[in-house]
Amino acid sequence: MSHTTTVAGTPVDTRHWINGVRVASADGATFADHSPIDGTELGQISRGGKPEAEAAVAAAKAAFPAWAATSPQERARLLHAIADGVEKRLEELAQVETHDNGALIRSHRRGVMPRVAHNFRFFADWLTNDLGHEDFDTNTRRNHVSWDPAGPCVLITPWNAPLMMESWKVAPALAAGNTVVLKPAEWSPLTASLLADIAAEAGLPAGVLNIVQGYGAEVGQALTEHPDVRRISFTGSVPTARHISAAAAANLTPVSLELGGKSPLLVLEDADLDLAVELAVEQYDNAGQVCLAGTRLLVHESLQEAFVEKFVQKANSLVQGDPRDAATDLGPNIHPRQLEKIDGFVQRALAAGAQAVIGGGPNTELGGLYYRPTLLTGLAQDAEAVQEEIFGPVLTLQTFADDDEAVALANGTRFGLAATVVSGDRAHADRIARQLVAGTVWVNCFYVRDLRAPFGGSRQSGVGREGGTWSFDFYCDLKNTVTAQESGWVQHG
Ligand code: NAD
Repeated sequence: MSHTTTVAGTPVDTRHWINGVRVASADGATFADHSPIDGTELGQISRGGKPEAEAAVAAAKAAFPAWAATSPQERARLLHAIADGVEKRLEELAQVETHDNGALIRSHRRGVMPRVAHNFRFFADWLTNDLGHEDFDTNTRRNHVSWDPAGPCVLITPWNAPLMMESWKVAPALAAGNTVVLKPAEWSPLTASLLADIAAEAGLPAGVLNIVQGYGAEVGQALTEHPDVRRISFTGSVPTARHISAAAAANLTPVSLELGGKSPLLVLEDADLDLAVELAVEQYDNAGQVCLAGTRLLVHESLQEAFVEKFVQKANSLVQGDPRDAATDLGPNIHPRQLEKIDGFVQRALAAGAQAVIGGGPNTELGGLYYRPTLLTGLAQDAEAVQEEIFGPVLTLQTFADDDEAVALANGTRFGLAATVVSGDRAHADRIARQLVAGTVWVNCFYVRDLRAPFGGSRQSGVGREGGTWSFDFYCDLKNTVTAQESGWVQHG
């Protein structure tokens, strides 16, 4: 049986990457990976279980002492070499990712893949230039804070932005001096396999980065239960986060959770309407499969009519179709199960009395996994479509009469990942932003993420923050060494 599949001209190994070698599952099991574009089978991928989890963690554990002992400069050099490899293979990565998860080739080329390379460079440079080593004195005792490598880390990622999410975790974990076992999502396993090739070509020592493929409930669960794992970083859904937290609790393994959202986009009375509409339509990006998406449009009642008119015009101009076409704005959703889930939310909302201003069902002309961009109105705050993450191209619109109501609606879910405020008045925007429960608030912009800033969610949108020093705080064992300066020193010789 061949262990390579060729996707858009690029050979991709379908096996795990453990201790620097490609291995199939011990029992030979595989699972089929399909393209959301047209359902084509892209390959039979090794389906890991407990034996592969054990082998990968053992490899990471064995490789840890030597990797932790390398100098920050050497680790940074290797991370830059990985970034070079990503840049060299940018078009291949973009093509493979688009075939695998259906996101736009245009975005992968221009934004995502260059950003993946940047993520490796950023954490390499942060490690060598910015991670604080400032000592301070308590009376005559000197405090020295160090960020010590913690050990093997398990990184578990979702399918909506596979390599992007993986690089946000792999880069800081490796920079910190940890070894890694990465488990990519089973609906988009391919670019992680290419990352293994790139890391090997860059010269990363065997066992420092291990990649196991398979289902969450099988190999994922086995990894999170493993007693030799020192950190678990997870991005995905709230129900999975509960499983992972419970598994981690047995060993008290520290967990970082980046979860779902139901973020508001507030259009205040004094907003620039064109900007508000532009930002609102942007929420259909990636066919709505963005954790940060401002899916709840909250519009001042005086602007509703004009906003909806302009919104409909702009949304209707979006080109829906094949994500490999650079002119496409909106591609397919990831999987038949996801499409069914999205449509379930919409049909239940419509049955309960909501109206679809646009959309309201799958795109039957295109067929397959394409869902029409949808805007729902006539929903109460406690409606399912307002409270639950749909993770498809579905937005809701509610109006408010004053700031208090706007803030109450914005904060009125169990999530707190992000929020966007559109306002023409700086002081007004600041006043609202201060009251919002969210890990990130954007004012008159959207989707800007600078890795120097903390990133994460409040309430059920997550636990912990990543980015800059926050990432090193998570991936390291912080240690303070206090040394007396004036006593206890023996003169030798
Ligand atoms: P998911 O929770 O179903 O799966 C995520 C990953 O967890 C996959 O790799 C899966 O195999 C694994 N997994 C599943 N069960 C597991 C278990 N019991 N033990 C260990 N691992 C397990 O999420 P998804 O559907 O892949 O992704 C969509 C979700 O991710 C949405 O809720 C979205 O909002 C969220 N997300 C959040 C962020 C963020 O930064 N906050 C970013 C992207 C996506």
